[in-house]
Amino acid sequence: MAILNLVYEGDPMLRRVSRPVTEITPRILQLLDDMTETMRLHNGCGLAAVQVGILRRVVVIEVEEGQVYELINPKIVAWTGHQEEVEGCLSLPGKWAHTSRPAAVTVKALNRYGEEYEIRGDGLLCRALCHEIDHLDGKLFVDVAVGEVESK
Ligand code: ZN
Repeated sequence: MAILNLVYEGDPMLRRVSRPVTEITPRILQLLDDMTETMRLHNGCGLAAVQVGILRRVVVIEVEEGQVYELINPKIVAWTGHQEEVEGCLSLPGKWAHTSRPAAVTVKALNRYGEEYEIRGDGLLCRALCHEIDHLDGKLFVDVAVGEVESK
């Protein structure tokens, strides 16, 4: 595994739309492993491939230690309710804001074996799913901020 370099706010890449994965190659599997290692190094709870400079629809999420979700071509298929909680992003270090998100979402994605599976998440897992899937469409949490974006 390898630690990948992060892409930071101001880099136009973060505003680009990522392409779907059409074939799960050894390179994609390596990317998943490297993204998980990179996310953990930075104490993040989610990472999208665009944040390491790869414009592919690949996401890793770990909101509970040891429970890593690997999502290839993830799609939100259902959502309900509303929450406003504090969010940050490894690509926008030192920035925080309350965001407007659904209370719960259902996401469909492929796992590393190319099998479709479904995740339902509320609370932090819901925010992480929404946040990372937004990255794949070139959106950042500051776009859905409620009130001021705080800087430290
Ligand atoms: Zn982010």
